[in-house]
Amino acid sequence: MIKQFVPSEVCLKCQGCCRFKELSSVWSPCLLDEEIISLIDKEGIPAASLSIDRRLNLIPAENKEGFLCPFLKKGENKCQIYHMRPFECQLYPFLLSMRDKKILLTVDLNCPYVKDKIKSPEFNEYVDYLARYLNSPKQLCTLKENPQVIQAYEDVLGVMELESNDAS
Ligand code: SF4
Ligand code: SF4
Repeated sequence: MIKQFVPSEVCLKCQGCCRFKELSSVWSPCLLDEEIISLIDKEGIPAASLSIDRRLNLIPAENKEGFLCPFLKKGENKCQIYHMRPFECQLYPFLLSMRDKKILLTVDLNCPYVKDKIKSPEFNEYVDYLARYLNSPKQLCTLKENPQVIQAYEDVLGVMELESNDAS
């Protein structure tokens, strides 16, 4: 599991994650191959609840405004699979983006917490931690085997380039 930057008590009071404007959204969680196997085996989710591009199939929000992750517990703002939530969910508000054939660690400043902390020493320390974590041989290998989690996000801020650039 990736160490979290945003404290969980902050996220529990925020409605910023796990909700999407569009049914087919680049922001919806895209899973590692091993996560798909775990979810099918351990959580018993039907393979049909995953899209062909390895995303969780979103469900319409009750108020008809947008779509929700199927694992968001209604009313409690909690993730039903928090103990095994996908890599992309653990990483957010940071994301991996492909730009000019390079893998960049980027950050989404739509997250109010990270926007507030972007110039803080904690932010720099956390980026150093992520650099060590993501540049480890194990993680670089995982990314090479799962290029689906490196996407073309718009309006995200580049933070650093990963060491490997051949995961495409
Ligand atoms: S937008 Fe930021 S603060 Fe809000 S739930 Fe997501 S990670 Fe947490
Ligand atoms: S898997 Fe959990 S953390 Fe990830 S989008 Fe769904 S509810 Fe949110």
